[in-house]
Amino acid sequence: MKQVFTFQNNTNPTSLTPPYPEKPTAVNKTINQLLTRFNLAGIRKTLDLRLHEAQEDNLSYSEFLEILLHDEKENREDNRRKRLYQEARFPFEKTIDDFDFSFQPGIKKGEILELATCKYIEKHENIIFVGQPGTGKTHLSIALGLKALAYGYTVLFTTVWDMITTLQQSRADHTYKRKIDYYLKPDLLILDELGYKTMGETTVEDFFEIVSARYEKKAIIITSNRDFPSWDKIFFDKTLTGAIIDRLIHHCHTFILKGESYRFQNRTRD
Ligand code: ADP
Ligand code: MG
Repeated sequence: MKQVFTFQNNTNPTSLTPPYPEKPTAVNKTINQLLTRFNLAGIRKTLDLRLHEAQEDNLSYSEFLEILLHDEKENREDNRRKRLYQEARFPFEKTIDDFDFSFQPGIKKGEILELATCKYIEKHENIIFVGQPGTGKTHLSIALGLKALAYGYTVLFTTVWDMITTLQQSRADHTYKRKIDYYLKPDLLILDELGYKTMGETTVEDFFEIVSARYEKKAIIITSNRDFPSWDKIFFDKTLTGAIIDRLIHHCHTFILKGESYRFQNRTRD
């Protein structure tokens, strides 16, 4: 038979017979087991401390309960943030504050700060960073990705090459649809390093599939070492190149990063 616990008015819960603790600080096994069973890890973590505080500060039952529920909420939000950060798969962590705008004449800090408000994600717009290696394209796309996470958006970072290789392999093991969905799902998809390698016919089709399915529905950030006129060298097929560029730049913030590699400039200054 299931145990039923009833609270009577003005009853001090600490004086109730077990399973409630005789002393508030000694959280007993049954409470812990029930908290685990109902996935209340946030409360489980703080209960000992909160019981102690409640007694010290003479808290009412409702105040005590509110604090516990708040702990549970905080813990869940914290877990969600950690999970979304891991799922974003950033290769390293760089922020807007880490970026030295005086080194990069191709971009104004105000423009990046405006993008950091993430309105472009809300409006399903794209961002393209074009520039030579080392000019900060990946840095800025990660920095904007971190801002997007902070606003609660889902983000996925991948190199173009990793994405098209994954999609190619998925054709062989029949997980193609699932993999396509993986790249369509996040609110912001960051596609790094477009143009380092030329794509074959079917890989261009996969790339086109992602771009056209996200068009006007979800935002994309693309980094590339090539400017638009030479994109037909990446995509092999002129018609598809036109169709891809058309969709990408229709609602797009494009930045041409200038100058030498930051790595190189830093080295010569040392
Ligand atoms: P790209 O993707 O354009 O090849 P990265 O973003 O990887 O270049 O930049 C190369 C390195 O130089 C990174 O460590 C990045 O943080 C740093 N970097 C590039 N530009 C700047 C800048 N203007 N201010 C600070 N760090 C920079
Ligand atoms: Mg890069």
